[in-house]
Amino acid sequence: MKCYDAHTHTIPDNHMGIYQSDAVYTASLFSVGVHPWQADVKTLSEIIPAIHHQNCRAIGEVGLDRLRGPSMEIQLAMLLAQLNLANELQKPVIFHLVRAWDEFYSLVKSQQHTPWIIHGFNSPKQLPRLLQTKVIFSLGPASLQNPHMQSILTQIPLNRLLFETDDTASDINQVYLDYSLATSTPLEEVYAHIEQNFLAIFGA
Ligand SMILES: [Zn+2]
Repeated sequence: MKCYDAHTHTIPDNHMGIYQSDAVYTASLFSVGVHPWQADVKTLSEIIPAIHHQNCRAIGEVGLDRLRGPSMEIQLAMLLAQLNLANELQKPVIFHLVRAWDEFYSLVKSQQHTPWIIHGFNSPKQLPRLLQTKVIFSLGPASLQNPHMQSILTQIPLNRLLFETDDTASDINQVYLDYSLATSTPLEEVYAHIEQNFLAIFGA
């Protein structure tokens, strides 16, 4: 079975991963975006050529981080510009979110017209509210190691789930195994659902 990786900073050797790139990347599918930490030093025009490339399957990581980076005002302006682009080009969005849930919930209401993926989802307290939206949850090694996450994993519908390795050296296969073990979901079933979700969101 194929192990799809929805967000990785390691160059994947196939088209089963979304490589987090800074520019056009021809050897695999990729995402490109201005990270909230860089919202005051990077410009949208730097990523525009890459966004239009056929291998660019998502805009990201974009988002809001209250603990790091420039002011929320600057981060929000950059995020909004990128959400407009995502809507215009009909691309999914990969979110980096740290302590900015109120802002996020109001954006979901007004701006979401494509799949939105919360990458490295690790905020179990937000789950009830997030389940009322249409966001997709991408789980990484840290998500599955958090004991508070383990008890809520089965509440995330299988059709709203993705897996990722992010910037870790972890093996994506291990993320599948850990999820399967933690939720008592047969591994074959996990593979099938993630494949379906990945292809529906990012295309083949
Ligand atoms: Zn990342």
